Amino acid sequence: MKLLPSCRDVSEYLSEAMDSGRPLGMHVRLHLTLCEACRRVLAQFALIRHGAGRAPEAGPSLSDEAKLRLRRALE
Ligand SMILES: [Zn+2]
Repeated sequence: MKLLPSCRDVSEYLSEAMDSGRPLGMHVRLHLTLCEACRRVLAQFALIRHGAGRAPEAGPSLSDEAKLRLRRALE
């Protein structure tokens, strides 16, 4: 296991963790502490998980720039 996973690794890990309800590993938490882009990814996953089916305008929305960064982080 790598000490510090890449943003791509983290986004894949977060996706799996959200699906399975598995707690985040230490290395992922450390990456999230250091990486704003991945914190945004986590926030977005949390929104999808908790806000599924609700009107998008009901919750906090991401700026266009944030969406762009999220998309880049997930590529
Ligand atoms: Zn990252």
